[in-house]
Amino acid sequence: MSAYVREFSEGNRDLKDLLGGKGANLAEMTNLGLPVPPGFTITTEACRAFLATEREPDGLDAEVDEHLRVLEQGRGRRLGDPDDPLLVSVRSGAKFSMPGMMETVLDVGLNDASVTGLARVSGDDRFAVDSYRRLLQMFGTTVLGIDADLFSVALERGMQRRGVRADTQLDADDLRALVQEFQGIIREQTGADFPQDPREQLRLAIRAVFTSWNTPRAALYRRQEHIPDDLGTAVTVQTMVFGNRGERSGSGVCFTRDPATGSPGGYGDYLPNAQGEDVVAGIRNTLALDGLAELDRPSYDQLMEVMSTLEGHFRDLCDIEFTIEDGSLWLLQVRVGKRTAEAAVRIAADLVDEGVIDLDEALARVPGQQLATLLFPRFAPDAERTAVARGLSASPGAAVGRVALDSETAVAWAARGDDVILVRKETTPDDLPGMVAARGILTSRGGKTSHAAVVARGMGRTCVCGAEAIEIDLDSRAFRVRGGPVVAEGETVSVDGSTGEVFLGAVPVGDSSVVRQMAGEDVDDPVGAAAARLLAHADSVRRLAVRANADTPDDARRARQLGAAGIGLCRTEHMFLGERRELVEELIVAADQAGRTAALDRLLPLQRADFVEVLAAMDGLPVTIRLIDPPLHEFLPDLTDLAVRVALEDERHVEDEHDHTLLTAVRRLHEQNPMLGLRGVRLGIVIPGLFAMQARAVAEAAADRVAAGGDPRPELMVPLVASDRELRLVRDQLEQVVADVERSRGLRLEIPIGTMIELPRAAVTADRIARSADFFSFGTNDLTQMTWGFSRDDVESEFVQDYLDQGIFATSPFESIDVEGVGELVRTGVRLGRGTRPDLHLGVCGEHGGDPRSIHFFDEVGLDYVSCSPYRVPVARWEAGRSAIELRPC
Ligand code: PEP
Ligand code: MG
Repeated sequence: MSAYVREFSEGNRDLKDLLGGKGANLAEMTNLGLPVPPGFTITTEACRAFLATEREPDGLDAEVDEHLRVLEQGRGRRLGDPDDPLLVSVRSGAKFSMPGMMETVLDVGLNDASVTGLARVSGDDRFAVDSYRRLLQMFGTTVLGIDADLFSVALERGMQRRGVRADTQLDADDLRALVQEFQGIIREQTGADFPQDPREQLRLAIRAVFTSWNTPRAALYRRQEHIPDDLGTAVTVQTMVFGNRGERSGSGVCFTRDPATGSPGGYGDYLPNAQGEDVVAGIRNTLALDGLAELDRPSYDQLMEVMSTLEGHFRDLCDIEFTIEDGSLWLLQVRVGKRTAEAAVRIAADLVDEGVIDLDEALARVPGQQLATLLFPRFAPDAERTAVARGLSASPGAAVGRVALDSETAVAWAARGDDVILVRKETTPDDLPGMVAARGILTSRGGKTSHAAVVARGMGRTCVCGAEAIEIDLDSRAFRVRGGPVVAEGETVSVDGSTGEVFLGAVPVGDSSVVRQMAGEDVDDPVGAAAARLLAHADSVRRLAVRANADTPDDARRARQLGAAGIGLCRTEHMFLGERRELVEELIVAADQAGRTAALDRLLPLQRADFVEVLAAMDGLPVTIRLIDPPLHEFLPDLTDLAVRVALEDERHVEDEHDHTLLTAVRRLHEQNPMLGLRGVRLGIVIPGLFAMQARAVAEAAADRVAAGGDPRPELMVPLVASDRELRLVRDQLEQVVADVERSRGLRLEIPIGTMIELPRAAVTADRIARSADFFSFGTNDLTQMTWGFSRDDVESEFVQDYLDQGIFATSPFESIDVEGVGELVRTGVRLGRGTRPDLHLGVCGEHGGDPRSIHFFDEVGLDYVSCSPYRVPVARWEAGRSAIELRPC
């Protein structure tokens, strides 16, 4: 067997690495005895060698010669023979399908002499000349790099001259004139004649296909689809069959099931008297397969049989390219077809019913991202719309509403029944009421883990953030789209959180049928039923538990409905907003411990009531309550606003002592880098009584729930711990409080105390930290921020896109765990933590807990659970199931 070239009969479908998807499947079809025009495949190895050295690897030419000879002998014709030419197609085919991204050259072997031979042998002058003009056109653009428009404009002109609307209406003489014209274009553009030597044509075409691996569009496609850049493409050289030999010929593509809906039954397009790309290029109207049945019943019947053979063989939806030459069917390609999320779920479940695959395989075939898209509300796919701006797709869904430029307006308008889109430069905890009230959130600053994005995802609110073209002008109560319209507050916009697009006006929207089904609605929809069935299977096989990040009783209830096994992160900061902000101010400006205690005493019952409700909503399931994390100045007035207010008061000689004291406190607490400042466990250490108050509220809430006959399972979690000493000090405080409540209420409370691991130092000293922790929860948002040194609020809108474009990231590390770096810290934390305490309970509550690819990593490193936004819970359950199947020993 030769090194760089394989006959079709020498391959099979498992050799995609080497032969590309196309070559491997052509080999498979050849071996199945299906009608495949003979040929051979040049391996991806040859391409890689070519790309590394910019020349064909040694021996490749000789190998191609040898295989060409075999092909010529088999067909009884020589490539480009002037009397009876063999013609070949030269096509790309990478391991992973990259539809239309690389190059193809058809009809290689035609020249001024062989075109006459082809005309004579086929008895069809027009067909021969048409094939030649196609070669000149494709070779000119693909191999010689000439602007494709020069050829299509010349073709267009030729049709106009003859007063016809389709290329099929041009006769042989018209086409001969075009051949002359095309040869002139080639001469003019390259300074050389079109190469007449067929072998030289073949060599150049192969080279062009190799090179097309690196075209910008192919590189971009790979980045988006996460296809590695170093695979290279295989090249298939195959005997030409002709769909352009008159009305008994044609080209088509078909699918064994509908790739849009998944419904069973063949589906396809056929174009009589056409070749190659004509079918998908939309230059003439195609026929459905029924149309083919009317034109050529025997070929149609044979195609139906082939479709059923191939689907049976590949055990999946197949996408097939075929040509009919003078009444004979030929297969040019088969691949497992791409499909929509709806079709993916439905086909997988149908194939289980048909006994083709089992439930494990059905689940393994549908990635969680596809389930996720089925859960989002959506804009009607055929609705008309024009995007006026685009930002980051921060939280999926489709939202329509009136623009409100601040939280208060959003709340007021929502209260009177309006749908509202909250549009802000960026959001702060202050905007929470407006965010809750709004249907969707749009910001002009901030990345996918900015406040707006995290909170929106947590609430299942649609959000587009960092739409930089939007400039908000609060004076005129409007926003301007740079280079576009001005949108006044109150006007209606539509926001697509799945694409990041913003539209003017109301685009029609609705709940997805899968969500309605999960909420218990009786929906007669095969897709919803299929999704529910596969999800139940995922639950039965997964090892990882799935909890939710939920801060309110409503979120907790929703999470439970969506299958969460508890709360992995209940952030408590929102419990200090609104009217309670005043109490936080009191706490901060208090002159002494007595003042602080008084403020904390007033906060205690309010917090307790919060926890009672959340614990009730999650009765019987664990609820990890995180002690307050953000810097306290987030709860105080803005420094500039307050300074101006005090200055005005001074000017007017209004003595407001409270404002003066507050200003001093705000100045004292002001930080240049609040994310690296007085936050997390540091607050517990520096502000006596704050964490203790929260712990008391939790313990008393648990005692109240027990008294009410409930089964509360709270856990206390300390944020931003860097050293074992910090945790030890805080743990002592918390244990005392819990013991105190137990004593006073006369009962035993099981309240595990654990910590977040969200600083690199915590991960690498996890063995010590584990001495004081009953559990760890990896806070991968901060861990990513602190490991890369990236501000999670800023970098996504600033330079993440550049990093993606330049291949430094395959995906944003805030979206999918950076396995090499941040992931290594998680691994270390797990190993060290469990080294100290083998029973240490481990989870993750950063945004990565809901990211499908990250979930596989967390499963592999042995975490016990992932925690994510309620709306992502079904996806996490699904992905945890897929991961269990993947990791299962064979
Ligand atoms: C984290 O850092 O991963 C985390 C969950 O905490 P927060 O997002 O609240 O900082
Ligand atoms: Mg954090």
